[in-house]
Amino acid sequence: MLNLVLFGPPGAGKGTQSEKLIHYYQLVHLSTGDILRSEIAAQTALGMEAKKLMDQGILVPDEVVIGMINSKLDANSEAKGFIFDGFPRTKAQAEALDALLAKRNTTITLMLALEVSEEELTKRLLLRGKDSGRADDRNTDIIKKRIDEYNSKTAAVAEYYKAQNKFKGINGVGSIEEIFGNLCSAIDSEK
Ligand code: AMP
Repeated sequence: MLNLVLFGPPGAGKGTQSEKLIHYYQLVHLSTGDILRSEIAAQTALGMEAKKLMDQGILVPDEVVIGMINSKLDANSEAKGFIFDGFPRTKAQAEALDALLAKRNTTITLMLALEVSEEELTKRLLLRGKDSGRADDRNTDIIKKRIDEYNSKTAAVAEYYKAQNKFKGINGVGSIEEIFGNLCSAIDSEK
């Protein structure tokens, strides 16, 4: 199996590149942000609880997202592999993901980290907020909170994969095709 963690701060281009990678490598895309937004759209109890935190740019509890990923892995037991987008975001989530994959006799192949400056991220998120309909993309204070959450809780996840020799940093600035090409080279050199 090819199991990739696509990593990077909000606005780094994870969603855009995931879409291209799943088609090219025939993978299943698991974005915890997308799953949470579909829970909100369906007005489930979980969605309503998560919305309160998401609207403030704060991470939802680990057990919530770990449970969601567990169900998605079960629902896609025939998959050739997965792209994890926006997950894991804490060390506890990374450890839980390793355990969930080990139970299914597989493992993370590689973490690909899209690297983009904070100034460029804010610019991109505000632009996305104009037509994404996402409240958390429209307000500079919430954007700042999301980037702070990334720096204080999520950046450590990179260290977790570095310690396993699975980390690759990719320049996240350039054309979509250029960045995609760099991601593919990194993946192909690992397969
Ligand atoms: P995203 O679409 O990945 O930018 O996620 C939007 C929001 O959903 C985040 O700001 C968090 O509030 C929440 N979220 C998404 N994924 C996770 C995760 N793995 N752990 C905790 N919260 C998450």
